[in-house]
Amino acid sequence: MDSHQISSNLATVKQRISKACADAGRDPNEITLVAVSKTKPTSYIEYAMEHKQVHFGENRMQELDDKMTELAGKNIEWHMIGNLQTNKIKFIADRVHWVHSIEKLKYLKEFEKRAADANHHVKALIQVNISNEKQKGGCKPEALKDLLLASQSFKHVTVCGLMGMATFTDDESEVRSEFKLLKSLFDEHKQYSEGSVQLEHISMGMSNDMEIAIQEGATMLRIGSDIFGARN
Ligand SMILES: *Cc1c(COP(=O)(O)O)cnc(C)c1O
Repeated sequence: MDSHQISSNLATVKQRISKACADAGRDPNEITLVAVSKTKPTSYIEYAMEHKQVHFGENRMQELDDKMTELAGKNIEWHMIGNLQTNKIKFIADRVHWVHSIEKLKYLKEFEKRAADANHHVKALIQVNISNEKQKGGCKPEALKDLLLASQSFKHVTVCGLMGMATFTDDESEVRSEFKLLKSLFDEHKQYSEGSVQLEHISMGMSNDMEIAIQEGATMLRIGSDIFGARN
C-alpha cells in the first residue's frame, strides 16, 4: 500500500459517505470518518494525513500507545476503539482524545483519574452490545441509564455518545435492526445529558456496513480495511 493507493481508497470511501448521505437526506458534515489503522505501519497514517485525514482509530492499547508516541506532536485525533484493560488505561489516558469502548463504570473512573493526573480531557462513548454475541464487548442496554447518571459529575471525561458493532453477517436486515436498536437507545437516553454527559454521537458502521449505518443515524464511522487494505 503506497500513498497513492491510500489516497484513492480515502477518496472512494468519502464518495460512498457522500452518496449514502445524499440518499438518506443527511449532511455529510455530520459524519466523522475515523480511519482504523490497527496492524498497519505509521507510514500509512502519515499518507492518510497528507490527504487531510485527522481521526485515527486503534483497537489495542499497546499499539495505540506506541503509535501516539511515534507520531507525537502531529495533528491527529486518536480514538481507542478496542477492548480495554484497567491496568493499561494509564498508558493512554494522558494523550488519547476519544475512547469508544467503555463498557463499565470502572473504566470511566480510571480514565477520569488518569486524565486528571495529566491535566488532559477524554471524550468517551459507551459501547453497547447490540448484537447479543458473547464475544463482542459492550454493556447491556439495561445498564446504560445508571452508567450515564454516574458519569454526569466527571471533570476530565465527557460521555459524548454510544458505540456499537453489528453482527458480522451478510444478512442486511439483521445489521440494520441492530443499528436501529443503537439509535433508539441513543434517543431514549438523550434525556440524561447533563454535566459531563452530552450525548451527540453514534459510532457505528465499518467497511462492510457503513451505508446502512449512515441510513440509521451514525455520526462516526470506523473504517479500516477499505482505507488501509485487508489485514492478515
Ligand atoms: C477493526 C475495527 C474496525 C474497522 O473494521 P473494517 O472492517 O476493517 O473497516 C471498526 N471498529 C472496531 C471496533 C474494530 O476493531
